[in-house]
Amino acid sequence: MASVEVSALAKRFGTSTALHPTDLTIGDGEFVVLVGPSGCGKSTLLRMIAGLEDPSDGCVLIGGRDVTHAAPSDRGVAMVFQSYALYPQMTVAENIAFPLKVAKLPRAEIEERVRDTAAMLDLSALLDRKPRALSGGQRQRVSIARAVVRRPRVLLLDEPLSNLDTSLRARMRHEFARLHQQLGSTMIYVTHDQLEAMTLAERIVVMSAGRVEQVGAPIDVYRAPASLAVAAAIGSPGMNLLPATVVAVDADGTTVRLGGGEDVRTAVRVPGDAIGAAVTLGIRPEHLRPDEAGPFAGAVELFERLGPLSFAHLGARGEAGTIVAQLPGDRAVTLGETMRVAVAPQDAHLFAADERAFPR
Ligand code: ATP
Repeated sequence: MASVEVSALAKRFGTSTALHPTDLTIGDGEFVVLVGPSGCGKSTLLRMIAGLEDPSDGCVLIGGRDVTHAAPSDRGVAMVFQSYALYPQMTVAENIAFPLKVAKLPRAEIEERVRDTAAMLDLSALLDRKPRALSGGQRQRVSIARAVVRRPRVLLLDEPLSNLDTSLRARMRHEFARLHQQLGSTMIYVTHDQLEAMTLAERIVVMSAGRVEQVGAPIDVYRAPASLAVAAAIGSPGMNLLPATVVAVDADGTTVRLGGGEDVRTAVRVPGDAIGAAVTLGIRPEHLRPDEAGPFAGAVELFERLGPLSFAHLGARGEAGTIVAQLPGDRAVTLGETMRVAVAPQDAHLFAADERAFPR
């Protein structure tokens, strides 16, 4: 197994920058997920680690060895893509065995490894089938088997589940978690799926506009997003972000005023000289609760009942825009009714004009 380290790694395509100089260290055997909006540079970073894309600057170390200019096949990495190109004329067993045949391993060892890998991915009963006789999920499992059969030190996965339906994705999520335990490989996984990121990652790397915005345990990043970009990228539905002005600062926190004149108390400490500063108040939907005296009010424009919980979209007045509040699944709501909601001071986030979070 191996650690992966990128140092001042950057990529430009002509005049546009896909990745600004980036430093990142991924521990031996760690499961790291790269998340962020479309076009933020996740795949570019992954492809440079794989050796499929040449960096404009910086270097890549795998297991402590500088592989910046090494061929993909000489890096000890394997990659799984969104589109699982299998050889249609070969059986499942032959598809899985293919990389080992290319590497000229002895036949007995190839057979043993194919058997073990197929068992690990629940493919043992399908070894004689051709890809056309498999479901989408089974095909993707074969492409994963083909990647792991070489026992790569590092497994790179670029949105491997995005072609699958919801229930298959859920099953495959479990399989990835299990696979990681069994293989112990370092895994770097690109997705824009919140559930995959939150449930699979030991650490998530949140990217935005070609930069790493924050790195941390998923729950820590969720609870304390370091910037507006992270707040917007993590959580579904996303954090409510409302323009506000700092009106009072004391030892226990800060009071901000919304566009409509309502004051909201937060437990965030901002510097005393911030009075009058424009900030963004951030509140997750689950932290808004109905309260007749609450500062946020709006007519229910949209109501989504998911079963265990529901979401009310409140058309708020003024510049605040729509606010989304999470409610219990059984709560009765009428479209058009006016609802007032409040937030506890410790659940409110504040972001400065430079989009960085004030520490809480
Ligand atoms: P997605 O989630 O949509 O796959 P991503 O975060 O993986 O997005 P990248 O594919 O890494 O994003 O792309 C980052 C930026 O680099 C984008 O603006 C993209 O248009 C640009 N880009 C990627 N590949 C090339 C290329 N071969 N030539 C020119 N620009 C490219």
